[in-house]
Amino acid sequence: MFSRLNLLRSTRHYVVRARCVTSSFKSLSTFVKTSAAKAKKPKLLHRQVIAPHVSYKRNSRYTEGNVYHGFRCERVEHVSEFDLTSYTLRHEGTGTEFWHIDRNDANNVFSINFRTTPFDSTGLSHILEHLSLCGSKKYPVRDPFFKMINRSVATFMNAMTGPDYTIYPFSTMNEIDFRNLQRIYLDAVFRPNLTYLDFLQEGWRLENKDIHDQSSQLVIKGVVYNEMKGVFSENAEAFSQKLLNNLFPGHTYGHVSGGNPLDIPKLNHTDLIEFHKKYYHPSNSRIYSYGTFDPTKTLELLDKEYLSEECWIDISYSRIPQQKRWTQPRNVHISGRLDNMGAVIDRQNQIAIALLMCDATNIQENFELHVLSEVLLRGPNSAFYKSLIEPNFSGGYNQSTGYSSGTKDTTFAVGLQDVRVEDFSKFIDIFAKTVSNAMKEGLDSQHVESVLHNRELSLKHQSPHFGNTLLFNSTALWNHEGDVVSNLRVSDMISRLRESLSEDNRHFQNKIEKYFINNTHRLILTMSPDELYEDNFKKAELELLEHKVKDFNKEKLQKIFENGLTLDAFQKAKSNIEILPCLTMSDVREPPKWPKLFIQNIHNIKTQICTVSTNDITYLKCLFNISDLNDEEIQLLPLFCNVVSAMGTAKYNYREFDKLVLSKTGGIDLELNLIEDVKDAASYKLSVMMTTHALDKNVPEMFCLCQELFQNFKFDNFVHLKMLIENYISNTSVGVVNSGHLYAMLGATALVSNAGKLKSQLSGVDHIAFMKNYVQLSKIPEIAHKLTLIGPKVFNKSNMQGSINSSKYFLPSALDCYKTFVETFPTFEKTKIRNNINFTEPSCQHYSMNIPVNFCAKSFFTVPYLHKDHPILRILAKLVTAKYLLPVVREQNGAYGSGATISSSGIFSFYSYRDPHSTKTLEVFEKTYDWLRSEKNLIDQQSLFEAKLGVLQQLDSPIAPGNIGIDYFLYEISPAYSEKYRSQILSITIDDLQDTIEKYFKSPAKHYGKCILGPVHSNLDLETSEKWKIIN
Ligand SMILES: [Zn+2]
Repeated sequence: MFSRLNLLRSTRHYVVRARCVTSSFKSLSTFVKTSAAKAKKPKLLHRQVIAPHVSYKRNSRYTEGNVYHGFRCERVEHVSEFDLTSYTLRHEGTGTEFWHIDRNDANNVFSINFRTTPFDSTGLSHILEHLSLCGSKKYPVRDPFFKMINRSVATFMNAMTGPDYTIYPFSTMNEIDFRNLQRIYLDAVFRPNLTYLDFLQEGWRLENKDIHDQSSQLVIKGVVYNEMKGVFSENAEAFSQKLLNNLFPGHTYGHVSGGNPLDIPKLNHTDLIEFHKKYYHPSNSRIYSYGTFDPTKTLELLDKEYLSEECWIDISYSRIPQQKRWTQPRNVHISGRLDNMGAVIDRQNQIAIALLMCDATNIQENFELHVLSEVLLRGPNSAFYKSLIEPNFSGGYNQSTGYSSGTKDTTFAVGLQDVRVEDFSKFIDIFAKTVSNAMKEGLDSQHVESVLHNRELSLKHQSPHFGNTLLFNSTALWNHEGDVVSNLRVSDMISRLRESLSEDNRHFQNKIEKYFINNTHRLILTMSPDELYEDNFKKAELELLEHKVKDFNKEKLQKIFENGLTLDAFQKAKSNIEILPCLTMSDVREPPKWPKLFIQNIHNIKTQICTVSTNDITYLKCLFNISDLNDEEIQLLPLFCNVVSAMGTAKYNYREFDKLVLSKTGGIDLELNLIEDVKDAASYKLSVMMTTHALDKNVPEMFCLCQELFQNFKFDNFVHLKMLIENYISNTSVGVVNSGHLYAMLGATALVSNAGKLKSQLSGVDHIAFMKNYVQLSKIPEIAHKLTLIGPKVFNKSNMQGSINSSKYFLPSALDCYKTFVETFPTFEKTKIRNNINFTEPSCQHYSMNIPVNFCAKSFFTVPYLHKDHPILRILAKLVTAKYLLPVVREQNGAYGSGATISSSGIFSFYSYRDPHSTKTLEVFEKTYDWLRSEKNLIDQQSLFEAKLGVLQQLDSPIAPGNIGIDYFLYEISPAYSEKYRSQILSITIDDLQDTIEKYFKSPAKHYGKCILGPVHSNLDLETSEKWKIIN
């Protein structure tokens, strides 16, 4: 979901630092929407390159051979498919490479990348990433990174640690902002303070449990320490980490770059400083910029401030050698956490076969192997889907499945989740048979074509974050000194592949033989749940602690106690943030301009039309407002949305239908929405939104496929349906721990009103429990029958609205197809759509899980979006996050993240993320009003303005052409109202804030809910003086 309003519900900016253990970026800031209702498909497209289209001609900015501020221009190339010019420059003094992409795109990007190759699992590179952003020579401010989040209109700000690199990227559409952030980032990485106290805060420390009581027990604390405990409590993360470590045991990839919790306490402060000197040397850095802002200013700043004084050093120490190939395959078995929300215990195993493929710098080979992997894995026409998934002895592909080019040697993995130990050998046999058959018999050429079509379509599909995507897709290759410029010529690579395929019909078969059959560098990794997993970890943690403490004398204990107090005082001290740059009101006064929307009534269907430059693609959305479903049918809607397009239709079986969809469109997706009335919050409606897009030349087929699905869907293949349902259930419980705060907020909102409760039943933890139970009690034919009855009540002309985004030139043709499409659509009797919202009495619930960290939330009802107080509450949420929750819950109490947010329906929520505490955090939430009163002086003009910038980051964020107008489509919020809302935000005063604080925070809310998702708590009632419902 891309709606700006949805951003209200999510929490885009609470955790800005992400790390990534595997090659795919799992930045938390990208979790715009994660819900169980939209079960995740395995990510097969690690290196998807997305193309935009803006035509412009521009003379070359730099000439090859010339020197600009100490940088010699080495290479200039125009890449027509993305309409960009690439400039590669190298600093003559230090050898630092500067890569600039000149492109007519307002969302400019800047990043500094380092090749970091740790040789232990202490989390050295990850902790350094945190510490670099804790204050530098020019900006000696505590945590300037978090402070800048409120002083900028960045569209993206992050820092990430990969297995062999650390990168510091940001993007913004405002040039002043760009220069501000650039100065902070550069100073942070080249001249960080790296103080001991920051090391204690961010890395690890021994501290008295109660810092004011020297006799209290010593414990291990630290932001990264807790972060990594949280990361590995998600089995999928632990599995992919072990896969990487065991497939590349020899060099840096054999270690956990993020840090293994039990190894982190081996790291000391001086190692970190040494590591910085060696790996953050300018010669070992790569600098990227993208967009329209003048790169010459960047070159000048770099040379003058950071590079001219430094010399060139030989960086071969950080180069990663190719993994030495094994002569024999290997097997490794590991234990995982028992997931009490997952499948029955004897099915909670995972298995994967992983293979080392080619050198990442061989770009054509790499590209072809990526395509081949997709052909083998993706959708019901692929070989592995047919042989591994359809026999239905597992919960489907696991998260490690796919091709990855994030390491020096690329990898392929295929794995299953929720599989029995007895079936491990079956999996291994099937793997061998599948690749051997594919090699002998070859691949279905139509299927290969549909995968290639999808590639080409994705080149045309415009992303508002193209510059970031390009950076992420190039980072690993660049890090290995590969040819990142040629790697952008995707069309050329596709043509070369097509040529090879037509010249040699065994082209792919030969690759299968080489990489899949005769490849002895093969790892079989298996994982089984261990009921004692958490206990064992706790035991090991205690042993580590005892080992550390056993020789401590009185002085040492005294020192630890004092350190605790010093750090506490340091965290509470006022920071001199005035020295950080900040935008001013005049920089942001003008709202961004969006294309106009038009509404037409076409065959009695309200249709929203937007003409926008779409790069030869037409986007279609159909929204079905649902009525007339009984409770059971409503509960089945998420499943319906997930499986209906995968079942085939009257005319095509599911394989044929999938092939057509993949070869003509970008996919047909259905999504369930529960939308509360943004005017009075008195009612809500349920709707199913179908989204699809196609190249203009394929638009007639796109409409035919939608029509076929809506009118001729079927659920009569029970074997296939059974498999889809079981995979769906397995996928719902994956990722709960990664997005625990969203689930905790859903759980808290469920206690506020009936609409909130329904939302949790349709997409929260409650949905997982419901589905597991439902499937146990019902037979597949019964479920199929019920899904069949739901169909006509959803795909119904009388409840439908349409939306088309297309180019001015193609729109008339698109509309002609649309008219024919809706004409034939069946109509049924229209009944009530709106359901009343009833608020409930306050209550609390605790989802007890086998994890070592908590996610806490408190939600209460205020006023919905159109109410005049909503913008003020939204500002307050930003302010409370920046000035109260982050300093207290994150910095002082050690949670990884915390914040406040308000939804368009008026639910105000507090949350914490990967939190070592639970009731203590809830108390912090409770004390918000006291804090707002006692720290009245903190709410000054500057902090108010910073909060406004925080909201503008969301309101003005760039939006893909296919999604323009989505707020009006879903929530009926007109562009004019959005503009009014924006100007209300800008005009809020301190008095407005004070009035609103009194009105909504002084006395306890009438309707609120609290939720803790985390390890078992036995005495919650006693600790909180409230009644808790415990859900196991
Ligand atoms: Zn981190």
